[in-house]
Amino acid sequence: MSETPSSVVIVGAGLAGAKTAEALRKADYTGPITLIGSESDLPYERPPLSKSYLQGKSPFDDALTHPEGWYADNNVQLRLSSEVSALHPDTAEVELADGTREGYGALVLATGSEPVRLPIPGIERALTLRTHADADAIRATFGSGRRLVIIGGGWIGLEVAAAARELDTAVTVLESAKQPLLHVVGPDIAPVFADLHRAHGVDLRLGAQVSTIEEDGVRLADGELIPADAVVVGVGARPRIDLARDAGLAVDGGVLVDAQLRTSDPAIYAVGDIADEEHSILGRRIRVEHWATALNQPATAAAALLGGPDTYDRLPYFFSDQYDLGLEYVGDVPKDADARVVVRGDLAGREFVAFWLDPGDRLLAAMNVNVWDVPDEVKPLIAAGTPVNPDRLTDPSVPYSALGG
Ligand SMILES: Cc1cc2nc3c(=O)[nH]c(=O)nc-3n(C[C@H](O)[C@H](O)[C@H](O)COP(=O)(O)OP(=O)(O)OC[C@H]3O[C@@H](n4cnc5c(N)ncnc54)[C@H](O)[C@@H]3O)c2cc1C
Repeated sequence: MSETPSSVVIVGAGLAGAKTAEALRKADYTGPITLIGSESDLPYERPPLSKSYLQGKSPFDDALTHPEGWYADNNVQLRLSSEVSALHPDTAEVELADGTREGYGALVLATGSEPVRLPIPGIERALTLRTHADADAIRATFGSGRRLVIIGGGWIGLEVAAAARELDTAVTVLESAKQPLLHVVGPDIAPVFADLHRAHGVDLRLGAQVSTIEEDGVRLADGELIPADAVVVGVGARPRIDLARDAGLAVDGGVLVDAQLRTSDPAIYAVGDIADEEHSILGRRIRVEHWATALNQPATAAAALLGGPDTYDRLPYFFSDQYDLGLEYVGDVPKDADARVVVRGDLAGREFVAFWLDPGDRLLAAMNVNVWDVPDEVKPLIAAGTPVNPDRLTDPSVPYSALGG
């Protein structure tokens, strides 16, 4: 058991950072907490930025993790518009861009991700989506008679496409792969999303090779110009691990943490998008760039830094909404899993559950599309790691609770 830290500094005032402050106070930690973030907004959740907020259907305040008064009420010192430029584990201090330093008893890193920048000429003309300001800039390009080109048919690209179509914008999506979301859901399920977007009037170009972004549109490698009033690039996110790496912490794609979310320095923890965790149920490292991880890991980190035995063992979970399609995904399919997909329900009607099975028929992941209350039912099957009968799994008359063992 470690001693209660004299103070806690949290770097990154997004969802994971704010939830860490909350979890510390819920765990009755009474020492000073400083939450430092480079954005000017109060900590907020990002999913609405590509959904209801982007469509103008919900106000920004609905996305705040806590109302403004919460920070003072809970004695959390919130330092917004403040960039941490270096960590000094040797003196247990963080250094801010203005040169000042802040000492810590324990440090939590929650620096999140930033959009991947496509290395093509004209990229400075394109918009990306990560922040409140980004969402406002993208929304300003929507409307009848406007033409939007989206580079990237992943979650962000498709959600922006759906939001833009809802507001009557003409949308072209350029995806280099043969299907949208191909690397996430695979070739059996990806056409569901291609059909969905085409049915809503999106000009979906698959296998598209983008060459340059020009003043009046996007030039493809074959010379065709796709005219655009605005271009959004959504080609993935990159975890912000520079601070951790430069401070000598162990990193490898993300910041390496144990099952208690502790980095290679025992006084420093990492949560949310950057945390590459030794997952106790999956039995391997995993880094998850999704809302639920940023929401839930902080309670484990807070308990651990206060000396508790907790480990983070929730299965990865995420959701997406596009037009009238809502989905949830639980579990994880490793790239080398050689997984196959089986389906319960109606794929063409977009009401189904897809299951990913490894060659030994062990359930790795499930995605429910326009069917609800599935994740909690299938989590025990994934966690058990024992074979399931695929015929019974795909039979809607068989309850999930009857599939164990
Ligand atoms: C548009 C959008 C839609 C999404 N939709 C979904 C969804 O539908 N479902 C889902 O599961 N997930 C979704 N996600 C992913 C989810 O939002 C992220 O996984 C989550 O935000 C991660 O939280 P975080 O706190 O780790 O990082 P972030 O939210 O990225 O917050 C990190 C914060 O740290 C700050 N920071 C970084 N470096 C420094 C520094 N040196 N000094 C000070 N501050 C710093 C950043 O400015 C930022 O404010 C979406 C993401 C985006 C961008």
